[in-house]
Amino acid sequence: MNTTVRKSQIATMKNFDNLFIEMTAKYCNQKCKYCYIDFPPFKKVEDFIETEIIENALKDLSNTKIKCIYLTGAEPMTHPNFNSILRLCLKKSAVCICTNGSFINEKKARFLKKVEEESTNEIFFRISLDHYDEIKNDDIRYRGAYRQAVFAVKHLMRYNFTPIITVTNYYNENQQVLWEGINKLFSDKNPGKTLIEIKQWHDKNSVVNTNIAEKIQHKLDCEYGRTLSTKGIYSCPFLSGDYRGRCGSNFKDYSKNIPLETSFCMTCIKNSTQMFGIN
Ligand code: SF4
Repeated sequence: MNTTVRKSQIATMKNFDNLFIEMTAKYCNQKCKYCYIDFPPFKKVEDFIETEIIENALKDLSNTKIKCIYLTGAEPMTHPNFNSILRLCLKKSAVCICTNGSFINEKKARFLKKVEEESTNEIFFRISLDHYDEIKNDDIRYRGAYRQAVFAVKHLMRYNFTPIITVTNYYNENQQVLWEGINKLFSDKNPGKTLIEIKQWHDKNSVVNTNIAEKIQHKLDCEYGRTLSTKGIYSCPFLSGDYRGRCGSNFKDYSKNIPLETSFCMTCIKNSTQMFGIN
């Protein structure tokens, strides 16, 4: 009998630049068609990470110089202790809030600027907006999502933040056209300064291409950081809570190697850039 053994390529962490904190694994006020999280169809799950878990992780990482802490989710700004966790993380490094923008109004943007000014570290934002056409955007995300994201970006710009607009090219459109359409939405507020990152969408349910290992030649999130969740340490936000991305239970002892064997890995490789980290 012939047996074929397929070996996955291993990614090794090169530098601990980015700490991703999964503020909630399943709680979000939107429902995007392409989301990598499997949400329960009807019930809202309030699974917020405890502040104590974050405090302990930051203690374990006290000798590690991290460039940026990313507050991720599902939707991180739904966390009831969001403000105090933000302040806690800013003591360690810069913080990037990865959000759909629905919790950022003028008052919140002003408050966030005040929090930043009290700290020696900066706050960055990744705001999800998938299309310049309101109907197309809301068809992917949720009714009203377009307006919330556009207003959030404008409020943040008003307080001198430069949010990164993260676009998932769900319709597989011409990237230049997509970029120009989104840039036009904000060019009156911040001419020429809008930061837009377009990511190619890849269906997580598709079959893994066994040749992906040969194509790896770019930066991956799992090479530059780890994700903290209520369940332990994982390779990246995509694989948080997934046994295939498990690296350990705390930052005293965790794995720096991870096999690239999931369809999510194809998304990273196809995009040839970090999906969550700021390049
Ligand atoms: S999903 Fe991406 S970041 Fe996560 S382990 Fe796979 S290649 Fe690395």
